[in-house]
Amino acid sequence: TAFSSLKLKPELLNNLATLDYQKMTPIQAQSLPSVLQGKDVIAQGKTGSGKTAAFGLGLLNKLDVQRFHVQSLVLCPTRELADQVAKEIRKLARAIHNIKVLTLCGGMPFGPQIGSLEHGAHIIVGTPGRVEEHLRKGTLQLNNLTTLVLDEADRMLDMGFQAALDAIISKVPSRRQTLLFSATYPDQIQSIANQIMQQPVMVQV
Ligand code: AMP
Repeated sequence: TAFSSLKLKPELLNNLATLDYQKMTPIQAQSLPSVLQGKDVIAQGKTGSGKTAAFGLGLLNKLDVQRFHVQSLVLCPTRELADQVAKEIRKLARAIHNIKVLTLCGGMPFGPQIGSLEHGAHIIVGTPGRVEEHLRKGTLQLNNLTTLVLDEADRMLDMGFQAALDAIISKVPSRRQTLLFSATYPDQIQSIANQIMQQPVMVQV
């Protein structure tokens, strides 16, 4: 299926053509229509499936670049994945001028992260521990968040991020879109989904 069948902003569609993304991958074809309608979505898909664009296009399509506050938060299990996700989102966002995508990962110094946060960011991609620390310090506010993405949710739990995730979720608006991506769907993920998502659409590829 072609991306042009979706209700995407023209600048995003044009950029997809520039990137030579000609048709949607299965996870994109199955999840993007619901994602773009603002629904909560649970999708089972691995790295390499095109899952980053499945949520990335969703959050970019509703982003207002004129408003300099954090509108989307993407949580990832590792710094490597966060860097990869941020890179892909920046690529997809190339046609949106002045957009700021910031990574906040553990193992990195706080100073530059705080400096970047002070300058304002639209999208944060980070690991749960560090994002939670910024929330606790008051260096990050998520009161205007419209989209929360949990990427590789199963791995985040395996890595012991449950408490950090709970703390973050308690500080984001309850009226929001939540997208959850996971390679596996164990009971623990199902129980989190029940607590934090509203009538999620399930996608399996
Ligand atoms: P991901 O699974 O999100 O890590 O994406 C895997 C790779 O596929 C990335 O390098 C993307 O740039 C690329 N990609 C994602 N969606 C498409 C698409 N529809 N057409 C071509 N390449 C894509």
